[in-house]
Amino acid sequence: MAPAPQSVAAAVVGKDKSGPQRALEKLGLVRPIDFALHLPLRYEDETRIVPIASLGDGAQAQVEGVVSECQVQQRGRRQLVVRIHDGSDDLVLRFLHFYPSQQKALAVGTRVRVRGEARGGFFGLEMVHPSFKVVTPATPLATALTPVYPTSAQLPQAYLRKAVAANLARADLAELLPPELVPRGLASLREALTFLHQPAPSVGLATLEDRSHPAWQRLKFEELLAQQLSQLQAKRERERQRAPRLAVRAGGLQERLLGALPFTLTAAQRRVVDEIAGDLQRAARGTAGGLATTVPMHRLLQGDVGSGKTVVAALAAAIAIDNGWQCALMAPTEILAEQHLRKLVGWLAPLGITVAWLTGSRKGKGRTRMLEQVASGEAALVVGTHAVIQEQVRFAKLGLAIVDEQHRFGVQQRLALRAKLGARFDPSAEPDARPDVGAKPGARADDDATPAACGIEPHTLMMSATPIPRTLAMTLFADLDVSTIDALPPGRTPVVTKLFADAKREAVIARIRDDVAQGRQVYWVCPLIEESETLDLRNATATHQQLSAALPGRTVGLLHGRMVAAEKAAVMAAFTAGQLSVLVSTTVIEVGVDVPNASLMVIEHAERFGLSQLHQLRGRVGRGSAASVCVLMYGTPLSQTAKQRLKAMMETGDGFEIARRDLEIRGPGEFLGARQSGAPLLRFADPATDEALVHAARAAAATLLDQRPQIALAHVVRWLGTRSDYLKA
Ligand code: ADP
Ligand code: MG
Repeated sequence: MAPAPQSVAAAVVGKDKSGPQRALEKLGLVRPIDFALHLPLRYEDETRIVPIASLGDGAQAQVEGVVSECQVQQRGRRQLVVRIHDGSDDLVLRFLHFYPSQQKALAVGTRVRVRGEARGGFFGLEMVHPSFKVVTPATPLATALTPVYPTSAQLPQAYLRKAVAANLARADLAELLPPELVPRGLASLREALTFLHQPAPSVGLATLEDRSHPAWQRLKFEELLAQQLSQLQAKRERERQRAPRLAVRAGGLQERLLGALPFTLTAAQRRVVDEIAGDLQRAARGTAGGLATTVPMHRLLQGDVGSGKTVVAALAAAIAIDNGWQCALMAPTEILAEQHLRKLVGWLAPLGITVAWLTGSRKGKGRTRMLEQVASGEAALVVGTHAVIQEQVRFAKLGLAIVDEQHRFGVQQRLALRAKLGARFDPSAEPDARPDVGAKPGARADDDATPAACGIEPHTLMMSATPIPRTLAMTLFADLDVSTIDALPPGRTPVVTKLFADAKREAVIARIRDDVAQGRQVYWVCPLIEESETLDLRNATATHQQLSAALPGRTVGLLHGRMVAAEKAAVMAAFTAGQLSVLVSTTVIEVGVDVPNASLMVIEHAERFGLSQLHQLRGRVGRGSAASVCVLMYGTPLSQTAKQRLKAMMETGDGFEIARRDLEIRGPGEFLGARQSGAPLLRFADPATDEALVHAARAAAATLLDQRPQIALAHVVRWLGTRSDYLKA
């Protein structure tokens, strides 16, 4: 390995932060090991020189020749045109952007080594914007393939390459893992890294690039192991915590709620309710302040849109409330929170339960009153947005926290939530002011044994309508128990999906006219126009006017991101009440709204939406018994991935299949990015294709944590550094 020039090495460790230095940090490249684990995207073969005469159209190759011509020409636009020859033939190099220094370097008579893609141009074979360097006949060729690293605009590839090489030499690559835990046939970490950064020319580019090479396998295994370890660690920490044991009583609130529901649960709903109840009343693990406690639930409830998660949440809440504890339910948007509120009040108020409502927009007296109800315990259920976990909110006795559409909360919010929830129940402050909501006699035993002193925390239930495939769930949510509602309530007619080109707008409007004439309701979703809320709004407003004009005697509503929460809520309420025939909206209705009478969903410029977003939007209809239709309007030309997305929407209505296709179209990095907001969780491993490695890593993680906790920690630090926190979110 060639030692890097001193200047680069100094820049990499020095305190003075140059531009490239900051760019390195942005890529997470700080410690030598970070560089060592920053692996090439692909490679270029600069170990060979081929004769110009042997180049075919489209060939990626390196050639060497002497400049015979170098001039700036005006062919449509100013460009630098250089001709070289190597004795076998001539090749034209064309630069549309160039610096005077480049023009100077390519003076006639100079010998250059050039790499690029050969193309049959107007003037014969040429390379546009090749990379080149001035050489002498004695300049040695590269002895290894040249790595091309993921980088950013501020960070030149050559600079990054040197920085990686310098740090690779310096990084501590000692083997940490006991050999018996590493799957057979994989290289050591040092071998693997040296190989991947500087592969010998004899290695097939194909095995390197499809990442099937044992060196890649080793890196993937290491990465998966770090991720499994950090999640398993989080899980074990949680298992040491205590939450109140919440028993299901015969004839209790849950049973009464079940009896009062206007429908019976599906088998799938019953199963997940049982799983949740099982967690809440898991065998007691000691007492705190006289209360029986158990391991806190940490469960993800996933179910396709419309599968009926809300009622499951209500039934879980009923168990907590019945045991004298409070339950908080959080949703990512006010609209969604309000929907929950309405449903839950409808179900629980008749049973004598007080529900409080907390959102950012709720201010003044109303808010003070709510905060009092929460603090006194009068409100057994608290519904709202993330306002529920704000500083000033104090719960008397929080036993269960439910987070709807949890993936919609940012990583930071989820970390904050977790940190806050741990401290939510603080009875030591004023033990006697605590309301006697079912607190068992003896609950206020000696002070040191108060639940807070014993680290009591609430149970948590997270809900998501973005079901993910099993291996992915194992990788991504290794620290969670997962319950899945895998069937929709009966009596739903599947939504029929139709594609319409933009030009068919009139036909779509005619269809809307028919539907509203039959008393149905319609959503019209306008696309997000990238980074332009103003354009968004103008577009939605224009559509609103057009539809209002096309539907005389009908009311068309408009909902967009600039409206304040109360306005949004008013529009939504009018739509829910059936006073609006059509609701024109920007993507604010994306999650969770439930209006069974709506039977037509029109999505304009569907090609601009992500697949799971389209599926979620489609899930807004088909909630009642009327046959529903989802119209996807699209503009042309369609990109390849847009075509794949629309095709998937036409071919399936099943959320799991949609998730699988989405993963296929986007690749795991981006798919997982949803959880990590930006930094992909897994850089190398792909849970879809590396299933065997996922299993091996999972088993190895458990063994390591049990038998060699120091090694486990060192491995996590090596791989994740400061990022390890994020995995717990
Ligand atoms: P999601 O899982 O998308 O949050 P919801 O909880 O909003 O779904 O439920 C969708 C609709 O189905 C609601 O109107 C709800 O009341 C209704 N629903 C839920 N469970 C059943 C059931 N077992 N039978 C009939 N309707 C149900
Ligand atoms: Mg929902």
